[in-house]
Amino acid sequence: MAVTMICPNLKCGRTVVAAESARGKVVRCAHCQILFLVPRDAASAREDKGAEVPPAAEDTKQRGRR
Ligand SMILES: [Zn+2]
Repeated sequence: MAVTMICPNLKCGRTVVAAESARGKVVRCAHCQILFLVPRDAASAREDKGAEVPPAAEDTKQRGRR
């Protein structure tokens, strides 16, 4: 089991996965390295991976124009 949450860093906003035991503790975002607190009521990630948040890569696509 794991806990998933969105990185509070507005410039990052990635999905961060932490261990269930990390509730109420501080973890580090693997993408932007900031530290933040895992809420005790954070949503648990189930084993099915159908609910993953897609990476925000569409902004990059829209920059095709010079
Ligand atoms: Zn982050």
